[in-house]
Amino acid sequence: MLDVSKVILKHKEFFEAGVTKDVNFRLEQLKKLKKAVEDREKQIMDALCKDLHKSEFESYLTEIGVVLSSINYFLKHLKKWAKVKKVRVPLNQIGSKAYIYHEPYGTVLIIGPSNYPFQLVFEPLIGAIAAGNCVILKPSELTPNTAKVIKEIITETFDENYISIVEGGKEITRDLINERVDYIFFTGSVAVGKIIAEAAGKNLIPCTLELGGKSPCIVHNDGDLEVAARRIVWGKFVNNGQTCVAPDYLLVHKDVKNDLLAKIKKYIIEFYGESPITNNDYGRIVNHRQWERLINLIDKDKVFYGGEYIEEELYISPTIIDNVNWEDKIMKDEIFGPIIPVIQYDSIESIIKKIKEREKPLALYIFTNSKDIERKIINEISYGGGCVNDTLFHLVNPNLPFGGVGASGIGAYHGKTSFETFSHKKSIMKKTTLFDFNIIFPPYRNKLKIV
Ligand code: NAD
Repeated sequence: MLDVSKVILKHKEFFEAGVTKDVNFRLEQLKKLKKAVEDREKQIMDALCKDLHKSEFESYLTEIGVVLSSINYFLKHLKKWAKVKKVRVPLNQIGSKAYIYHEPYGTVLIIGPSNYPFQLVFEPLIGAIAAGNCVILKPSELTPNTAKVIKEIITETFDENYISIVEGGKEITRDLINERVDYIFFTGSVAVGKIIAEAAGKNLIPCTLELGGKSPCIVHNDGDLEVAARRIVWGKFVNNGQTCVAPDYLLVHKDVKNDLLAKIKKYIIEFYGESPITNNDYGRIVNHRQWERLINLIDKDKVFYGGEYIEEELYISPTIIDNVNWEDKIMKDEIFGPIIPVIQYDSIESIIKKIKEREKPLALYIFTNSKDIERKIINEISYGGGCVNDTLFHLVNPNLPFGGVGASGIGAYHGKTSFETFSHKKSIMKKTTLFDFNIIFPPYRNKLKIV
């Protein structure tokens, strides 16, 4: 049995030696990480194919390429971000200077999910290294081939007391979250997020929770249906629907529903063929438990397209369920698979009300050509982030913080926000010793009249 407290102690000693405080050290580590990933591109792709039937292109586009471009971005900006920032002082504190220091927390625990098992461990790792922390990685046990490559990269690239990897499932994760690490960064389900938050709360450990939920996708009657259909099909079926920000369900204006569904069907066939089971670009569900949960959501009477599945292959075809009601089983929890329920609406106000009755979504997408509708949705509904006239793309811009709100998550990362997430902002006021404003000192008698 791994003694996690010993592992954490070693990291604390490494951190206390102070080497990670040097920005040049951090830049060197990022360069080493970049090389290690580049050297193993093929291996990573093979592992993702074994775990999730990901195609090489999709693995590069959504996992390896994202990580490499993120490292490049950090290499370019880190020195500037890490500088001590001088800020203004108010007039009544004349004679002072004020600074913000970005201080690493110490040892960060990063817990990864199964859907983008490579990217979602390395993306936070980049931020944690950049901010000067030691790191313990705990990748998902549901994607063992990817976890194996991650382990190889980490153990061959870094000092084990600086960055280490712990493998296993919920038992080992529970041990880790009950220890005194200095920060926890968790990506995964809402249910497990609550367990993490509770454990972190007990020891007052700061944490980021990147969670999930049901992300609506609205297609209004003035939207470009061809564009909407193409981008929805891509955003929903990439990684076989196992994307935290995938459009979970469609809300379509009644005037355009039939047209939109016909176009969605056309693009499914164009992208994946009449028989996606034989198409290497089409993924699989991560395990049997999830596959079974998903096929139970398919109401055969309401299938508009697809609805086929094969147990031994963990395969579910791209499936559209029509005429869904808000009360249907499929509208209860996050779907996280290649099934898209469709609800039609009359008025935008009615769906705003319905969305607001539920937990705050991680993402929301609206297809419209009306600035008023766009503004109304953005202003009236609280959600993590999203796109107008597209799906998923808000998360690939490093200038946009990525995270949820309410039940879809706490905190954010990506780009400079990652650096800030993994840094404590230490505020310092440096005072002159030449004078004081003596009015602040007792005795206070009659002084209230002066201020
Ligand atoms: P999960 O919550 O089942 O597992 C995530 C991690 O938690 C794994 O490393 C696992 O070992 C650990 N874990 C599982 N059960 C645990 C327990 N009882 N106690 C302690 N640790 C436990 O999530 P998953 O199935 O791997 O991923 C899918 C979920 O993650 C979806 O809900 C999805 O929306 C969400 N997600 C969110 C983001 C985001 O950035 N917001 C990204 C990807 C996935």
